[in-house]
Amino acid sequence: MARFIFITGGVVSSLGKGLASAALGALLQARGYSVRLRKLDPYLNVDPGTMSPFEHGEVFVTDDGAETDLDLGHYERFTGVAARKTDSVSSGRIYSNVLEKERRGDYLGKTIQVIPHVTNEIKDFISIGEDEVDFMLCEIGGTVGDIEGLPFFEAIRQFSQDKPRGQCLFMHLTLLPYIKASGELKTKPTQHSVKELRSIGLAPDILVCRSEGPIPVKEREKLALFCNVRPDSVIAAQDLSTIYDAPLAYHREGLDQAVLDAFQISPAPKPDLTKWEDVSDRIHNAEGEVKVAIVGKYTQLEDAYKSIAEALTHGGMANRVRVKVEWVDAEVFDTEDAAPHLEGFHAILVPGGFGERGTEGKIKAAQYAREHKVPYLGICLGMQMAVIEAARNAAGITEAGSEEFDHEAGKKRFEPVVYHLKEWVQGNHKVERKVGDDKGGTMRLGAYDAVLADGSKVAEVYGGANIEERHRHRYEVDIKYRDKLEKAGLNFSGMSPDGRLPEIVEWSDHPWFIGVQYHPELKSKPFEPHPLFRDFVRAAKDTSRLV
Ligand code: GLN
Repeated sequence: MARFIFITGGVVSSLGKGLASAALGALLQARGYSVRLRKLDPYLNVDPGTMSPFEHGEVFVTDDGAETDLDLGHYERFTGVAARKTDSVSSGRIYSNVLEKERRGDYLGKTIQVIPHVTNEIKDFISIGEDEVDFMLCEIGGTVGDIEGLPFFEAIRQFSQDKPRGQCLFMHLTLLPYIKASGELKTKPTQHSVKELRSIGLAPDILVCRSEGPIPVKEREKLALFCNVRPDSVIAAQDLSTIYDAPLAYHREGLDQAVLDAFQISPAPKPDLTKWEDVSDRIHNAEGEVKVAIVGKYTQLEDAYKSIAEALTHGGMANRVRVKVEWVDAEVFDTEDAAPHLEGFHAILVPGGFGERGTEGKIKAAQYAREHKVPYLGICLGMQMAVIEAARNAAGITEAGSEEFDHEAGKKRFEPVVYHLKEWVQGNHKVERKVGDDKGGTMRLGAYDAVLADGSKVAEVYGGANIEERHRHRYEVDIKYRDKLEKAGLNFSGMSPDGRLPEIVEWSDHPWFIGVQYHPELKSKPFEPHPLFRDFVRAAKDTSRLV
């Protein structure tokens, strides 16, 4: 039976709860335990699929096709455990399940209430697959005191009562602000936050306190006394120069030991941290730097492309170089020449995206990369733009475009080399979609197989012919343009197993120009960089040595 660790946050948001959870997961693994991490989000959206990346950051897609919170990306990057649909839930999903059951008559005429119906639904979610792992880590989104969060806090309180004593642990993350004028770290906000937690029946076993510097003994003792935790369960989370130092830093602070002590696991197995020492060494001892331009639309919020930024870092670690990412707003060269904005970069990446805005700029970026032989990685929309560029400028299909943009504009302007996909095969069954279907849930989502062409660049990069990668898109490159595009030099080097869906294109006479219909960034890990990112950064490193 799993032990449960509930991670809550207080004082302010954005303290790095997701990272702390992920790092703790990695540390428990380093001690030989199996873990699974879960996120419970209080917002009312059924899933983050329809939330703006500007507001909420990237949507992380799981193998089994769930659109989830970006924290699941952290979990995967730190533990290597592939997240599942059942690892992310929101209030919206919980309520929607409850209401569906109510309509079906499952509650046999009872009055439906937050307690017990909503809380039971949450508890059922938390316990899914509890027999599979040693530790289940559940992070509650938001901050204690939020109205929306209450059913979740109540549910975990009940849950810990339902379980035998000593099987659940509460870890609370707070902020210790530093007041310059008095030169003091302030514990009061943390005290208030814990008071708030205790007023709803939750007593934290471990306090993780974000602070700019170390926590002096005096403050540590004060926190322990006023918040009713042991002094060695007050863990400092100091600002780090890279998130990948988090497991080692938390270990030094004694987080994993405090957790095992709280569960009375003694003697605790010793941790093997060599993996994280290597990761840290590669980041801190990079030799040189490459500059990569990400030409995208959501450039104001870096979280919108979180996994891509991380995958590039991993690619850098594999090549022992630092990857300096610059975000270039694609819309700028909708109207301006791309060259002055892209000169000086050792590689160009065009990420995924939705809608027409900025796409002419992305097409120009692809053209620039092709003509100047700069390494190019096109991801999803970035691949589609590379195909449109090839069609227009190399294959003579001058009106080439994507049906997505015609649908958006409500009129037909383009020859649809990228078209709306209405049916496809997943495993051994057929999936069908209509244009008018709900916005959520009309996409090709999750893991699909692809077969790589013999002798292609990608087959060399992957070191094999069969791959499985995650998708999130509605539109596809139309196979009927294959001959024309291949004659122009753009090879379709990866296809769906049934040969109908182009998964990868690459220019034959270019040192490194690859477009992929899927999202390789979602599967990259610091200790296992994704092959495409590893080789893309290698190509960027080669370019950097040329100039
Ligand atoms: N908008 C494109 C599509 O739906 C690309 C999506 C993406 O880049 N994730 O096909």
